[in-house]
Amino acid sequence: MNTPIESTGAPRRVLVTGGSRGIGAATALRCAQQGWDVAVNYARDAQAAEAVCAQVRALGRQALAVQADVADEAQVLAMFDTIDRTLGPIGALVNNAGVVAENQRVADMTVQRLQRIFNTNVVGSFVCAREAVRRMSTLHASPQARAAGGGRGGAIVNLSSKAAVLGAPGWYVDYAASKGAIDTFTVGLARELALEGIRVNGVRPGIVDTDIHASGGWPDRAHTSSALIPMQRPGRPDEVAAAIAWLLSDDASYTTGATLDVAGGR
Ligand code: NAP
Repeated sequence: MNTPIESTGAPRRVLVTGGSRGIGAATALRCAQQGWDVAVNYARDAQAAEAVCAQVRALGRQALAVQADVADEAQVLAMFDTIDRTLGPIGALVNNAGVVAENQRVADMTVQRLQRIFNTNVVGSFVCAREAVRRMSTLHASPQARAAGGGRGGAIVNLSSKAAVLGAPGWYVDYAASKGAIDTFTVGLARELALEGIRVNGVRPGIVDTDIHASGGWPDRAHTSSALIPMQRPGRPDEVAAAIAWLLSDDASYTTGATLDVAGGR
């Protein structure tokens, strides 16, 4: 039976990819405050993920730190299997894990760099969403997911970037284009799932004060770029998390296929 989105009773259990720091960690905590149990995915830093889990538990919710490189399908499958067995099937996914590379002109970019950016930011988001849909869809959830309480719909939020619109020339056009793909993914998947009880939305942050800028070789970028932002300051991770949590919530029951700018006017 086709399921109107507002009537789903999906499990209050969310997977936040890249939940060990930055926007993902803030999202994990915000979700816990709003009554979600949280699977905190990370790539390398188990200690940071465990610290987020401890904060989630202190808020009275269950938490599970789970390692997986989202660009590696086998690791993603193992991650979902671990979550199924430990917490139960998820009712929400935040596709947050994402990477940038150092500032470079397109003319200098190697295929290795492009594959890392697109495999992590785009393919990783697709594969995580695929696994989430197999557990959440009111029409197509697997029999195992249904038996474990899944198949009751849910919500997905994809992390885009204002770079998708601005293009990030001279910085990282590859990253910007990967987020442009995410914007299209959000619209297409939302429409594909509109009668399966799953809403899909995006958030498009501007410049937010996290460690991602250090990984792009520009640690103080968030603060030295304030002049580019109409509000003249970088965003905080919790300001992005608030938008994500709203899109996951039943308050957003008629919102699907939308991408919300959280960018200080940029
Ligand atoms: P961040 O501080 O660099 O944190 C990245 C998180 O993702 C960490 O938890 C990291 O885990 C994890 N991660 C990295 N590669 C991964 C992989 N291959 N598989 C699984 N997890 C992986 O990033 P952030 O600034 O919070 O950004 C979060 C999202 O927002 C990204 O999609 C980013 O593109 C987007 N965004 C950020 C900004 C900004 O200004 N910060 C602006 C626009 C959009 P480990 O620490 O274990 O490696």
